[in-house]
Amino acid sequence: MSTTVSAPQIHSRVQEFIAKPRKMLIDGKWVEAASGKTFPTYSPATGEVMAQIAEGDHEDIDRAVKAARKAFDSGAWPEMPPSQRGRLIWKLGDLIEQRLEEFAQLESLDNGKPLAVARVADVPLAVDLFRYMAGWATKIEGNTIPISAGSKRAKYFAYTRREPIGVVGQIIPWNFPLLMAAWKLGPALATGCTVVLKPAEQTPLSALLLAELIIEAGFPDGVVNVVPGYGETAGAALAAHPDVDKIAFTGSTEVGKLILQAAAGNLKKVSLELGGKSPNLVFADAEMKSSISGAANAIFFNHGQCCCAGSRLYVEQDIFDDVVEGIAEHAKGIKLGHGFDPDTSMGPLVSQEQLNRVCSYLEAGLSEGAEAIVGGKRGEGQGYFVEPTVMVNTNPKMKVVREEIFGPVVVASPFSDIDKLVAEANQNEYGLAAGVWTTDISKAHRIAEKLRAGTVWINCYNVFDAALPFGGYKQSGWGREMGHEALELYTEVKAVCVAI
Ligand code: NAP
Ligand code: MG
Repeated sequence: MSTTVSAPQIHSRVQEFIAKPRKMLIDGKWVEAASGKTFPTYSPATGEVMAQIAEGDHEDIDRAVKAARKAFDSGAWPEMPPSQRGRLIWKLGDLIEQRLEEFAQLESLDNGKPLAVARVADVPLAVDLFRYMAGWATKIEGNTIPISAGSKRAKYFAYTRREPIGVVGQIIPWNFPLLMAAWKLGPALATGCTVVLKPAEQTPLSALLLAELIIEAGFPDGVVNVVPGYGETAGAALAAHPDVDKIAFTGSTEVGKLILQAAAGNLKKVSLELGGKSPNLVFADAEMKSSISGAANAIFFNHGQCCCAGSRLYVEQDIFDDVVEGIAEHAKGIKLGHGFDPDTSMGPLVSQEQLNRVCSYLEAGLSEGAEAIVGGKRGEGQGYFVEPTVMVNTNPKMKVVREEIFGPVVVASPFSDIDKLVAEANQNEYGLAAGVWTTDISKAHRIAEKLRAGTVWINCYNVFDAALPFGGYKQSGWGREMGHEALELYTEVKAVCVAI
């Protein structure tokens, strides 16, 4: 396994970018933290410090919120016609596309994911999201409403306006750093909000390059402020800030609940995209080859660090052994390595903390009686590698079956009765996504209706599109990202009633 990257492989602009300490963007200017502190970001493939980043804290969050408030209340942004706003968002997408290789490299270096994946997934999806949302800027419409109040003598004309919600705090995770920034910024900018964005401490780099392009695109000062820092300090200060109108969060359900408590102070609006333990159901009439590779990708894509990972696999009894063996074979073919190695199909987990967390789940599963037919342990090398793992002999009470692992670990169990299967699939505190593999199209639709999940993929998995809403039932979250549904999270509805 190769764990070092030779310098020539790294784009010269990426080398420059990480060579000097990165500042934060507040009110259109690059500034140090008020405390003067910096924090390191590490390479998950080697464990080495890669770059130093200005460490935002409550004082920096306060400065950023003031800038976002000023930009929302006065100046060029609230005066800007929607078509101009749309053009700026579109331009941002173009600028990201022009710098695709730099973004892909930063993402791979900071998060550990294969460079090839960042090139075809993370970066192009972020570009698409901005282009999709650019189109919405001119289509945020209200209604005219034929109200029944009034009489022959007193007549009314009534309509609604959709107005931007105000200053938005956005807190994002490390699994798709650029893409999560895009999911959050796109609808906020399309609707005319202003933003303070806090990237995850593990992966601040791509958000800081994005901030450079936000300036280059020509957004007015203070419309987007990027304050890297730790969750417990910068994140908590943003969630609690009395002058923030809305907080949008993606991350763990545990922190989601803290965000909610912090937001209670000024009753700011909250949207949450949280964890998952998504069931993936394979029926005996499914097309075998595609369901095996589909179920493998459902869990192993992005090293299992996807909130919607298909981490609970249910396979109809007759084909259980064949499917599970097929996935195990797939797992054996996965080459762990540095994200820059072209042979790598799975990189390291993002951090030592996640490595410890995933390994402790593996130990818990094995000690509770589950069997790992492939993987089940840490991978070789100094990086945070975990072997892709398939666990069988599980039962619904086990920790590995109930809780989100957020690593390349799938638990598989056989089923024979559809009603019991649906009940078991829904028997979880999460409800983010689900998969169904069958050639019986009626069965597929009937099951899709019964699954308590925000997304159901039929004969496919992990299909994302800027136009397709994404979000969770139950403890997987509040609200939907992407699609026109996302715009609702960033607008208030005003009813206007005129006596005529
Ligand atoms: P996390 O703690 O929920 O972090 C997500 C974001 O919230 C980060 O920006 C984090 O900042 C920030 N944060 C942490 N504590 C905060 C607080 N008290 N107030 C405000 N913001 C706070 O997630 P994690 O520790 O990185 O990962 C733990 C688990 O979360 C994973 O194993 C997985 O189960 C889940 N997760 C889910 C998703 C998803 O897409 N749904 C993504 C990542 C993780 P810092 O990073 O600077 O602490
Ligand atoms: Mg890092």
